Amino acid sequence: MSRLEVLAAQSPVDFDFDIISCSPSLSTTIPRDKTLVNAIANGLLSSAPHVLPGHDTASGLVLGKGDARVDDDVTIPGLPPLLRGHPDIHLRNGVMNAYELAAAGEVDAEKAFFVADLSYVYRQHLRWKANLPEIEPFYAVKCNPDPYVLRLLAALGTGFDCASMGEISQVAAINIDPSRIIFANPCKAASFIRSAAKSGVDMMTFDNTDELYKIARVNPSAKLVVRILTDDSKSLCRLGLKFGAPLVSVPGLLAKARELQLDVIGVSFHVGSGCYDSSAFADAVKRARSAFDMGKEAGYEFNLLDVGGGFEDGSFETTASILKDAISQHFPNRRDIRIIAEPGRYYVSKAFSLAANVIARRAPPALERGSQDVDVDPEQPSVMYYINDGVYGSFNCILFDHQAPQPHVLSLGGSFHVPASVPLRASSVWGPTCDSIDCVCAVTQLPETLQVGDWLAFENMGAYTMCAASQFNGFEVSTVMYTAGGGADAAEVRAVLRERGQ
Ligand SMILES: *Cc1c(COP(=O)(O)O)cnc(C)c1O
Repeated sequence: MSRLEVLAAQSPVDFDFDIISCSPSLSTTIPRDKTLVNAIANGLLSSAPHVLPGHDTASGLVLGKGDARVDDDVTIPGLPPLLRGHPDIHLRNGVMNAYELAAAGEVDAEKAFFVADLSYVYRQHLRWKANLPEIEPFYAVKCNPDPYVLRLLAALGTGFDCASMGEISQVAAINIDPSRIIFANPCKAASFIRSAAKSGVDMMTFDNTDELYKIARVNPSAKLVVRILTDDSKSLCRLGLKFGAPLVSVPGLLAKARELQLDVIGVSFHVGSGCYDSSAFADAVKRARSAFDMGKEAGYEFNLLDVGGGFEDGSFETTASILKDAISQHFPNRRDIRIIAEPGRYYVSKAFSLAANVIARRAPPALERGSQDVDVDPEQPSVMYYINDGVYGSFNCILFDHQAPQPHVLSLGGSFHVPASVPLRASSVWGPTCDSIDCVCAVTQLPETLQVGDWLAFENMGAYTMCAASQFNGFEVSTVMYTAGGGADAAEVRAVLRERGQ
């Protein structure tokens, strides 16, 4: 009998908070009372409907009987419910729900799923306000156009950086005033410039002459921002390979803009996504100053500085401080200058975790082929695990975003109890498709006893993941469960979303 069958639908799951492999922060943020939490969890299990509405299995979960509906619930038509509690509780609930669905014979019962903690996005916003009060964030929609994230940020008052008509429509659909949108793609289709104008979106970037001709023809009253090239060599994703006018070409571009009677209002840059050297921002601000001066020479009075994206969670305070100093140094008189930024990753990276099921296991071909007495290098994977999301899905961030996600064990042998003493062995983790490029982790240490039916979790999966996922080979994109979080700010998150309405 397979493990999924062994686990009866109603079998109680034993949480043990003394030894857990799940996020180390967990034990401090959810009740230490094991009996209570197990009661909630198992109450939840028995109250969960057997067949959830639609095939949106992961997001159909609701909190259990113990959690009476309270009047600050958030319900947004068309979106899954906004749950309560620490995201790790929902990772576990999702797993238990999957066991139950599997027992009921549901197809894709063990589907991989995300848990999004919106309180993290909320806290990142407060952190932004505290560190960069002078700079208005325009969230880069491409990073994660999640409907809850967009609504929360809209309610918090951010602007939005859109790169296509699709993104503009998505943001417009949640009633964002077009003045809060920057069309920050320097190379746009003429039809997009036209439709953006129809939607009232006038602020847009450019970095070449052809773009100026297009804009002059299609939306002559646009508010233009010249995107300059900066040093992106200290970033994971070097956007300068594709965008940004070198400073030497800026005077020519501005002269052309003048000739075409276009309104250029300022300067933007992007130091590259995943910038790991905060000093790149200082250099970029210096270049932006030069571009401002070039604007003056061309007869413009710039009043917008857009410092782009590239902000990292881990180095945010350092970056903010370097950026502020550079702005003070190069823009001492900035009463008439509006400063905006286009953070993406910063807001969402840590807000999403992904749970994936081990659907298969095998020995590496070399070991399968070889005789038993081949010397096994303990550093080399001696077991291959196959999980149900991969590089064609959420883990496209490995290929496109140069990430190296690491799993931790979410459930082992039908229990969330992963003894600290369990022996580990070098393992590899693979996605579900039939392509050999679909490798999630080439080598990682996992418990020897990990087997089919167990679950792995991956943290920091909010940026550049599901938005670029494909359904290659017939595998569905993983769905999302949302929580307002388990901390004191959960109520604020709900209040902010409720106040905004739909
Ligand atoms: C991708 C992108 C961003 C967001 O970058 P992050 O590194 O995620 O902050 C901002 N602006 C532009 C123009 C982009 O292309």
